[in-house]
Amino acid sequence: MHKRPDRTLGHGNDTFWAWCDRQELRLPRCTGCHTLAWPIEAACTTCGGEGFAWERLSGRGAIASWCTFERDYYQGQFPMPWDCILVELEEGPLFIANPAGMTGQGMRLGLPVRLAFLGCEDEAGPFNLPVFETDERADRPARSHPTEELIP
Ligand SMILES: [Zn+2]
Repeated sequence: MHKRPDRTLGHGNDTFWAWCDRQELRLPRCTGCHTLAWPIEAACTTCGGEGFAWERLSGRGAIASWCTFERDYYQGQFPMPWDCILVELEEGPLFIANPAGMTGQGMRLGLPVRLAFLGCEDEAGPFNLPVFETDERADRPARSHPTEELIP
């Protein structure tokens, strides 16, 4: 169990974490304009609608950016240094997370990643933190001539 700084809880966030406890990454999709609303807001930032449906995401994405923190901002609650990644989810939203099983050294733009959950704990109790690991199955060089396979 990894000790973490306190999560944001309350409106909407409670639902997000409840789905994480079931090992599912779900984000609210606006029932008015169908935009995936992330991070959590009381109303859709696109249309102002207040109706949301929690949609399960594929958990696949790609590294859009990353950084390594070397200053201990959280008074020892993270092993130092710690890495942060910005994942562009397959469905579109940008999601800030921690990488699992890789560090800043192995990072590159567009690296395919997939969702995993890390058992963590904060003052409110245990929870599943969504993290991302390298998706090796997706990390293959694109074939320049895929139709060649069709020729006997
Ligand atoms: Zn909307």
